[in-house]
Amino acid sequence: MIGKLPITGELLRGSLLERTVRHTKDCPKCARGEGHQVFVLTVTYPGGRTRQFSVRRERVTEVRRWLSNYQELKGAIEAVCELNHDLLRPERAASRPRRKSHD
Ligand SMILES: [Zn+2]
Repeated sequence: MIGKLPITGELLRGSLLERTVRHTKDCPKCARGEGHQVFVLTVTYPGGRTRQFSVRRERVTEVRRWLSNYQELKGAIEAVCELNHDLLRPERAASRPRRKSHD
């Protein structure tokens, strides 16, 4: 199972949000009420602190893929942790080999 973890460096944690920026002056586009669509990656840290990163439009597809990779890896790690709870059972610890046989 460990060998099947989708480990890659292409990981991002957070949420990708689409926002509309509106300039208050000297912008014909905003004067027409259109505004500009921008993408922002919002990352929340323990304690509630957040950071935001602007994402260029041409990188949005890539960022979405990296966010998806993170979720997939996180899910796989959680699944391994759940399986490892078996190792903590006292009645099994003595008789079972330490190497896990789940896969
Ligand atoms: Zn504008």
